[in-house]
Amino acid sequence: MNKNPETTLASYLAAHPFLEETAGLYQTLQSVLQEAVVPVEFPEVAACQQLVKDGVPLLQQEKLQRAVVKVAAGMLPDVLAAFKGQQLPAAMAKALADWSVWAGETELQEIQQFFTLLLKQQDEELAAFITKVKLPKASIRLVGWALIDALVPAELKDAQVWREAGWRENYCPVCGRQPVMAQLKKETEANGAERFLRCGGCGTLWHFTRIGCVYCGNKDTQKLPILLPEKGQVRIDTCDECHSYIKTYVGHGREDIYLQDWATLHLDVLAEEKGLAKHGSVLI
Ligand SMILES: [Zn+2]
Ligand SMILES: [Zn+2]
Repeated sequence: MNKNPETTLASYLAAHPFLEETAGLYQTLQSVLQEAVVPVEFPEVAACQQLVKDGVPLLQQEKLQRAVVKVAAGMLPDVLAAFKGQQLPAAMAKALADWSVWAGETELQEIQQFFTLLLKQQDEELAAFITKVKLPKASIRLVGWALIDALVPAELKDAQVWREAGWRENYCPVCGRQPVMAQLKKETEANGAERFLRCGGCGTLWHFTRIGCVYCGNKDTQKLPILLPEKGQVRIDTCDECHSYIKTYVGHGREDIYLQDWATLHLDVLAEEKGLAKHGSVLI
């Protein structure tokens, strides 16, 4: 197998040409944000592990939430300026340009309000806020979360950190969002496969119980049908109780592709056709 990630992604896109524009968008987002954003300083890992003992994610705790909101709002104008001239789909380029104008002429406090609503996942209030300032909802939400993702230090996205902390919830220990993807993976040859969940907001991974619906907790295997639309890598775990699904990567080594929500958007179309609901996506 070729280890060069670009060649890997290229071969994936050759097999799924309809994803090419989306892949380009995410690559641009990632490279611009990596360049423009310095992660926020969080407490030490051990302190973070202690902070979530009561089940409250880090970014839902007032002090840390305020710190991240402040940094995100403060750097938004520069971050948006960094997208100027980048190769982006026309609709996204226009959304970012409009947002950039808005950020340039808006009080810091109001920008902070946007990030507070985003982090608190107060979706109705957030939608009303974005409508009021006449910005395109989906793009703003997507890039807003991509910025939060870039602000969270990589060491806190590691599943081992949250395993040690004893985190067993079905929401992200860092930001509190529901997971958007899952992975079944053997940690050691001696053990069976375990399930990991991935946050669609901040990219954190955490360990979760292997059997049962991630969203409602239904454990009746008769009511947990699995769809296998493409031979191999990603399957769709569905639930007859709450009619939701989660895409589950059953391989390993190509997490850079298969744990990215966008890489299997065609599977979401299939699930939607079956009347199943998606959770944890930053677009919804
Ligand atoms: Zn998260
Ligand atoms: Zn369920």
